[in-house]
Amino acid sequence: MARRFGIIGAGIAGLTAARLLRDRGHAVLVLDKGRRPGGRASTRAIEGVSFDHGPPWFAITDPAFRSFLDASVASPCLAAWHGRFARLESGRLIPETPEIPRFVGVPGMGAIGRALAEGVDVRVSVHADRLERSADAWTVLDRDGASFGPFDAVIVTAPPAQAASLLRGHSSMAATLEPVPMAVCFSWMIAPEGGTVLPFDGIRCDHPVLRWASNEQSKLGRAASPALVVQADHAWSGAHRDRKPSEIVGHLRSAVEEAFALRLGPARVESLHRWLFAQSIEPLGRPCLIDADARLAACGDWAWGGSIEGAFQSGSACARALIEAFA
Ligand SMILES: Cc1cc2nc3c(=O)[nH]c(=O)nc-3n(C[C@H](O)[C@H](O)[C@H](O)COP(=O)(O)OP(=O)(O)OC[C@H]3O[C@@H](n4cnc5c(N)ncnc54)[C@H](O)[C@@H]3O)c2cc1C
Repeated sequence: MARRFGIIGAGIAGLTAARLLRDRGHAVLVLDKGRRPGGRASTRAIEGVSFDHGPPWFAITDPAFRSFLDASVASPCLAAWHGRFARLESGRLIPETPEIPRFVGVPGMGAIGRALAEGVDVRVSVHADRLERSADAWTVLDRDGASFGPFDAVIVTAPPAQAASLLRGHSSMAATLEPVPMAVCFSWMIAPEGGTVLPFDGIRCDHPVLRWASNEQSKLGRAASPALVVQADHAWSGAHRDRKPSEIVGHLRSAVEEAFALRLGPARVESLHRWLFAQSIEPLGRPCLIDADARLAACGDWAWGGSIEGAFQSGSACARALIEAFA
């Protein structure tokens, strides 16, 4: 029997669950507060320059993830990143060949979410504020007072603290979610006027201030002009989360120039993004949460693994569990 599912969040977990439920004949409506689907797997375009300011790449190790992507993301939207990679360790740059291929969305990471949203009823710019239960159905109310539903079940895929606030009073899952930690991370995007590039295309950093740096132009489908993304270390970002953006940029600029022995010079384009819920650092260790009595569920990268693949695994486990619960 076809059921009606409401899904809060059009990130990888929400879109995975949506596609799997839809493919089983269920009616699905996905609501997201952002302007486009994809969640953290996104691309920022500034004056024609694009930056993957969330995940710079992702792994595909699970055959189920591979099959899902093959079926739902057309090949031009997904490509291996054939960059020159290195790690920064004790102040030295050590070239490395990743053990597993690194994949990117084309022409930007946001292409993955866009592809997954195709054929799915996704409403963007809808900030779910609360859930209401009538005798046998759920309604989602947004911040503007609009209501969506009725749904036989609702899946919440927001980061743990936000998911907990939607579920509080309706399910004990809220208490389980509340303490799940997420890392803060600053992403600095810069297109240097003078065309400076990093010595390698993707650099993992073991450094007190830096976590990652990449030459975005080395990924397939990007413009040729240099565009760099620098991620700050999680602990450093957490400790400096409330400082002025100009101070953060100043620190990151000095750290990059010193670590990679280069001068960035003036920026043609630059921006700083603060991710308050960047990545799950200690996932719950369960693929998803289901409250069958309440007809509520929660999934996301915080459940099983803080990565795009982890979000897929959580979203697919959640869809399977709900299909079983309603069978
Ligand atoms: C800086 C950074 C670096 C990263 N590096 C990597 C990496 O190298 N490799 C990798 O695989 N992964 C990486 N990740 C992690 C990866 O991006 C996430 O694990 C994955 O995208 C999470 O998907 P999700 O669907 O669980 O959550 P999200 O993508 O966060 O989706 C949740 C969605 O819910 C929406 N939402 C939240 N609250 C509400 C509400 N009240 N109403 C409506 N909508 C709501 C949000 O707008 C969002 O779209 C990185 C992330 C960041 C930020």
